[in-house]
Amino acid sequence: MPVLVMKFGGTSVATLDRIRRAAKRVGVEVAKGYDVIVIVSAMSGKTNELVGWVNETSPLHDAREYDAVVSSGENVTAGLMALTLQEMDIPARSWQGWQVPVRTTSAHSAARIEEIPPANIMAKFAEGMKVAVVAGFQGVSPEGRITTLGRGGSDTTAVAFAAAFEAERCDIYTDVDGVYTTDPRVEAKARKLDKIAFEEMLELASLGAKVLQTRSVELAMRYKVKLRVLSSFEEQSDDAGTLVCDEEEIMESNVVAGVAFSRDEAKMTLVSVADRPGIAATIFTALSEAGVNVDMIVQNISEEGRTDMTWSCPVDQVKRAEKAMSDALADGVINFSEMLADTNVAKVSVVGIGMRSHTGVAAKMFQVLSNEGINIQVITTSEIKISVLIDRKYMELAVQALHDAFELDKAA
Ligand code: ADP
Ligand code: ASP
Ligand code: MG
Repeated sequence: MPVLVMKFGGTSVATLDRIRRAAKRVGVEVAKGYDVIVIVSAMSGKTNELVGWVNETSPLHDAREYDAVVSSGENVTAGLMALTLQEMDIPARSWQGWQVPVRTTSAHSAARIEEIPPANIMAKFAEGMKVAVVAGFQGVSPEGRITTLGRGGSDTTAVAFAAAFEAERCDIYTDVDGVYTTDPRVEAKARKLDKIAFEEMLELASLGAKVLQTRSVELAMRYKVKLRVLSSFEEQSDDAGTLVCDEEEIMESNVVAGVAFSRDEAKMTLVSVADRPGIAATIFTALSEAGVNVDMIVQNISEEGRTDMTWSCPVDQVKRAEKAMSDALADGVINFSEMLADTNVAKVSVVGIGMRSHTGVAAKMFQVLSNEGINIQVITTSEIKISVLIDRKYMELAVQALHDAFELDKAA
């Protein structure tokens, strides 16, 4: 039998009614003759609640116990989904990650899937079971401890299962009916895309579009998984939603495919750093050893042997970065007069593979922001994206103005 992977996100399993609705969708695919692997998230809000409990109990918690707690939301929905399917006379059972097993690295709260042996589930399919319901977001480390894959990780579980079982397709059911030119919650004129290239989706995801976890897109690209995003709230035809595919499969596309944004950014500056060879290496090695993920970097022109060094990093890593820099100062490894942290910034990015062959996108982006009176604090570019750091209060305005200026509401 061909295998199909269907993933249901938090809002799609938020109540027993919604689980029933999702189970009906699964029933439609079973009736077509598929063996189905269903990956479920926790009910929406549950994971946030669990994270809150952990932080309240132990602010500097043991990461292994964090994973033991926050992975539990998925266990509940996996069991409930299996029961719902059984009530519909569809042979189904649930699996937690360790039972499959979903083998991961030991990087607790950000583990990577290393292997999913299909034998256990395939044996059940051979016995006549039609649906394997698997708890998303979780796995087991080589030490035998429960791990989680980072927020939004059920998408990655789904794609990894599709690759391991050579599934015909991986369908990601969520609360929007596909991938849009930007988050439809911020720009009402956002347009649903029928297809988007892997590379564009990868950039959009890593720049903040949380509709797919970045790692899931990486895996789909590497293992050539046919990946589709669609709504769990509407009746679906076979070509519904958005297909994430190779760029060769897309006939026409805009130079800019989409606008992404992230509110979870902070800007940090070391003022008046002694400018000498090796200073950047020293600062960024210390930050990396402290587990700080630096994104954008600017070094000012130096004056009288002193310079300012600015970078951006996730807002929840500011405390760690401050400690690493204060320690380095105390140890005499670096020397600066002041450390600043601005947590009121946001990153806005335009993404499109058309930028490889078209010039002028950056100039236009900067002009649009300037017309709105928005000051750009930091800029970074790559072959297919341009990102700017701006004051967070202008984020929505910037997204809407860029969406308008690049005419993303119109198809190519
Ligand atoms: P799930 O719980 O199903 O995993 P998520 O909340 O993780 O759902 O992801 C879906 C959300 O992603 C949408 O509700 C939407 O607000 C947001 N989103 C951000 N950028 C985009 C985009 N470009 N296209 C579609 N949705 C987007
Ligand atoms: N429940 C987890 C989260 O909220 C994983 C997921 O939904 O993908 O991050
Ligand atoms: Mg998600």
